[in-house]
Amino acid sequence: MSHPYKRKIRFLQVKGTHREIGQQIGEQCKQEIHHSIQTAQSLIDVLCSELQMDWNRATLQAKKYLPYVDEYYPQYLEEIRGIAQGSQSSLEEIFTLNAFEGIVMDRLHLSKCTSFAINQERSANQHVLIAHNEDWFPDDEADVYIVKAEVEDEPPFLAMSYGGLLPNIGLNAAGIAQCCDTVYPIEKRIGIPRVVVGRAVLGARTISEAIERAISPHRAAGYNHLIAHEIGELYNIEVSAGNFSILYGQAGAIAHTNHYLSTKMQLLEEESEQLIGSHVRYNRAMRLIQGVEYHDLFSLQAIQRDHVNYPFSICCHATQSQNPYEREKTICAMVMDLTARTLYFAWGNPCENLYYPFSL
Ligand SMILES: [Zn+2]
Repeated sequence: MSHPYKRKIRFLQVKGTHREIGQQIGEQCKQEIHHSIQTAQSLIDVLCSELQMDWNRATLQAKKYLPYVDEYYPQYLEEIRGIAQGSQSSLEEIFTLNAFEGIVMDRLHLSKCTSFAINQERSANQHVLIAHNEDWFPDDEADVYIVKAEVEDEPPFLAMSYGGLLPNIGLNAAGIAQCCDTVYPIEKRIGIPRVVVGRAVLGARTISEAIERAISPHRAAGYNHLIAHEIGELYNIEVSAGNFSILYGQAGAIAHTNHYLSTKMQLLEEESEQLIGSHVRYNRAMRLIQGVEYHDLFSLQAIQRDHVNYPFSICCHATQSQNPYEREKTICAMVMDLTARTLYFAWGNPCENLYYPFSL
């Protein structure tokens, strides 16, 4: 039997209003969406006593976040409604997935995700390249897809997502690209879930609009948003519920993992001692970037396959833990050529799988 992920990832093309693109995603990924709901439910079952929460309680908790999305980003609530309708799931189920980090994940301590980028100064062909390894629960690997969306009032975008989540990580026709990395702020509140904030960034037309959206008022918590513009501007926007820090790329390169880099945000980090693996990946990525003067697609892919500190390496293989909620792995890797508006995508660990190109 051939490896399942040697084949191309599911690629959707959707077009219309926010509701319509959600509905088209829901219809085409129905099986993946239902599977992702089951995965979330079984995770809560396993964690039931630790979290003092069952799926019903999680759904009720998620409902508290909904009025904030309805007020500030009704268009993305429409997308969530569309995904629910198209996949014949309930709004509660899909909304709970999109608020899942706030209600469940913040209590766990997975590490998750490595992002880095280079601009013209460090690029062999003058292209701006952005790389991201998505580390998550192994069960969600089956639910990954890529979507090319033409939404009525936004620049078209090309992005990765999985299950019932709004797309976050990708690039748009205005020349903006975004990667999101989990960070662990002490400060969090009921508000706009991180995934919705990330979706909003993907709709930005300028670098300042992208940053403003990353720090949307009434946000629940925050990611690090690695944001790049095709002209070569590279930013890390480190966010918590009430604070943020703006970091600018140095010497044509930037990277981020899952710990805060700015002194200001480090003071707001929860349980920093749990994040040593994140430091190791960050330092390793920076060293590998600095070790080559001019990068290309292949040199960045080589960094994504790095196995130093295995299994908690940049290419993550930490699937052996006794506890299902401690298992994580790289479920996909991508390099975005922002200049060419092309996304090179490997489904599963990039050390074992091929990259395929998708263009906007
Ligand atoms: Zn690997």
